[in-house]
Amino acid sequence: MEIKINKTACPKEKPEASTLGFGKVFTDHMFVMDYSREEGWHDARIVPFGRIDLHPASTVLHYGSEIFEGLKAYRRADGKVQLFRPMENIRRMNSSAERLCLPTIDEADALKILETFVSLEQDWTPSAPGTSLYLRPFMFGNDESLGVHAVNNATYMIIASPVGSYYKEGINPVKIMIEADDVRAVKGGTGYVKCGGNYAASNRAGEKAEKQGYSQVLWLDGVERKYIEEVGAMNVMFKINGEIVTPMLTGSILPGITRKSCIEVLKNAGYTVNERLISVEELGEALQNGTLEEAWGCGTAAVVSPIGELCYKGEKFVINNGEIGKVTQMLYDTLTGIQWGKIEDSFGWTYPID
Ligand SMILES: *Cc1c(COP(=O)(O)O)cnc(C)c1O
Repeated sequence: MEIKINKTACPKEKPEASTLGFGKVFTDHMFVMDYSREEGWHDARIVPFGRIDLHPASTVLHYGSEIFEGLKAYRRADGKVQLFRPMENIRRMNSSAERLCLPTIDEADALKILETFVSLEQDWTPSAPGTSLYLRPFMFGNDESLGVHAVNNATYMIIASPVGSYYKEGINPVKIMIEADDVRAVKGGTGYVKCGGNYAASNRAGEKAEKQGYSQVLWLDGVERKYIEEVGAMNVMFKINGEIVTPMLTGSILPGITRKSCIEVLKNAGYTVNERLISVEELGEALQNGTLEEAWGCGTAAVVSPIGELCYKGEKFVINNGEIGKVTQMLYDTLTGIQWGKIEDSFGWTYPID
């Protein structure tokens, strides 16, 4: 596969690390590739970052055929830039594509695309503590017709944004609200894939939580509204009475790469991790009798995020005095240590870019 590169004539000024937020500033270039049923994937190209042209009847605008990924490039202490488990994102993207009848991309091609793009944009990877270059691969259906069916045309793109440290002053525990009315996903639906539609459907509960001072929503299963699923854009884990537990992947939960990495780090450190159903009653009891020792969310953006307060049906519970727990801290230190190249990567998860 050949990737044409058309470099920008006017590179932008790179922002000060202290001004970086999340996904507000974009790099000089973007990757674009087109798909048609007749030609397959074609015209792989890196072009100056800019607006894209869409037909007003384009499938994505009407029927939401869109999937995405999120991963980061990290600046190591020795100056080199590296990715974290990129093949996991590539495989998950293809699993998402299959679910939405979008075209898959050959794994080796997808890795070459990512590598070529990051290599070109690597100077945009900031070096201040906690900062990184966020990469957003995405794909959408692009037929110029209002008929409802699997698409014949699609576009795959990657954009990149230098992002600031998730935690400005030390690790701040987050406040989470358990959502009892709206549901995010059901088994057989799209909960296990990263698609824009899942987010559109979760905005209402997110808004409600935010208005009440909570940063994210903890979803319950869509059928019985009984089992803990995940937080807005993070998976969840708990330490209850010494047992580390996380909701099992039932089909309505996003299989997070950070979740998977946390489980592997914990097992490697000698902990037992049980992936099982966790009911909201069980959690409520543990909160009431003080056996919920730690709770944390895990996802690419924050890596590991301690949960300091949970609210369920108007009742508020503080966890571990609103402080980060020992296991949460160990996970944070290990994962960020590997990602920023501060500790040895004995798992083989990092992928340096030349
Ligand atoms: C992306 C995402 C996660 C976290 O996945 P990571 O691969 O760890 O970043 C969790 N839940 C949802 C709904 C997500 O979209």
